[in-house]
Amino acid sequence: MEFRDLKAQYQKYKTEFDTAIQNVLINANFIGGKEVAELEEQLAGYVGVKHCISCANGTEAMTLVMMAWGIKAGDAVFIPDFTFFSTGEIVSFVGATPVFVDVNRDTFNIDTVKLEKAIQQVVAEGRLQPKAIIPVDLFGLPANFPEIDRIAKKYNLMVLEDGAQGFGGAIQGQRACSFGDAATTSFFPAKPLGCYGDGGAIFTNDDEAARLLHSLKVHGKGDDKYDNIRIGVNSRLDTIQAGILQVKLRAFIEHELEDVNRVYHMYNEQLQDTVEIPVIPDGFYSSFAQYTIKLKDKHQRDGLQAKLKEQGIPAMVYYTKPMHRQQAFADLAFSEQDFIVTNELCNIVLSLPMHPYLRQEDIDRVCAVIRAYCYAE
Ligand SMILES: *Cc1c(COP(=O)(O)O)cnc(C)c1O
Repeated sequence: MEFRDLKAQYQKYKTEFDTAIQNVLINANFIGGKEVAELEEQLAGYVGVKHCISCANGTEAMTLVMMAWGIKAGDAVFIPDFTFFSTGEIVSFVGATPVFVDVNRDTFNIDTVKLEKAIQQVVAEGRLQPKAIIPVDLFGLPANFPEIDRIAKKYNLMVLEDGAQGFGGAIQGQRACSFGDAATTSFFPAKPLGCYGDGGAIFTNDDEAARLLHSLKVHGKGDDKYDNIRIGVNSRLDTIQAGILQVKLRAFIEHELEDVNRVYHMYNEQLQDTVEIPVIPDGFYSSFAQYTIKLKDKHQRDGLQAKLKEQGIPAMVYYTKPMHRQQAFADLAFSEQDFIVTNELCNIVLSLPMHPYLRQEDIDRVCAVIRAYCYAE
């Protein structure tokens, strides 16, 4: 059984993928071919924003936004403690200071009450200038943007939605990657919308930021890439990846997003009396980058993961370590009291195989192992 079955997806759309790749080879426009602009337009249309700027990966997408917003040393940027390393890395990379905030135990996303407290604390200390919030749409579920927007307005902060795992999710019909002042996503192969290598994109309605981002991603170009008016980076999406993503986006819209939500309901039905299943709040829709259950404690979680592995079923722990305990952030000072939920989650979460090509018999088999294990315990 595959954790995320990219082979089944390839087999189903083999002709389309092969043709898309062949077309790029025939035209030999490996950088900046027409597929890139077409894809950007399709993505912006789907998400419902004015501008989509593709780039090399999801991490660099976020770095570019930090650069465009002029985030720098002395600035505080608020991020969830329970996320992939990138979200904090890019803040430190531009010289600013990440301020980690505990998450909500049900949604796994940034806790908005603790967020407001953290902002007030930074203001009171007066050492750093609060500048931005980077909420993460963890495991495919959009963060609580209605509440985050209220807080951002109150404290005059920018909001960057880290939608690396969130593409396809929604709140009251408004799609993920359209929240905040800008949003980013990743096309890493295992993400909800993945390519066959690295890729990423930025979304925004802000014309000025979009203009700046187009320049920053190509060596700070002015009129062209040999006219350089600022320091930028080299961060582009390959034409081949854009061609592949056009095929994948069609499949995603046609059935894949609905299929992962069908799998979610099928898992829920068989697991709800045995373990803590994912919580999707009313009005929210998830793209299920992960289907993550919670066990009683670390002992039960680790035991179950081992049991599943024994049966040939891959299950993963996202994440084993809170951000505030990563060695790279060791020079920042923390109080463990501020991260009670994240500290617990790292011990009890387990993500099960989740993808649009999971069959009923696969789900039955996973659930049978989990139920047998939990009842025998
Ligand atoms: C994957 C991921 C990223 C980084 O994306 P890359 O394309 O791998 O650079 C950032 N944030 C989160 C939450 C992610 O899951």
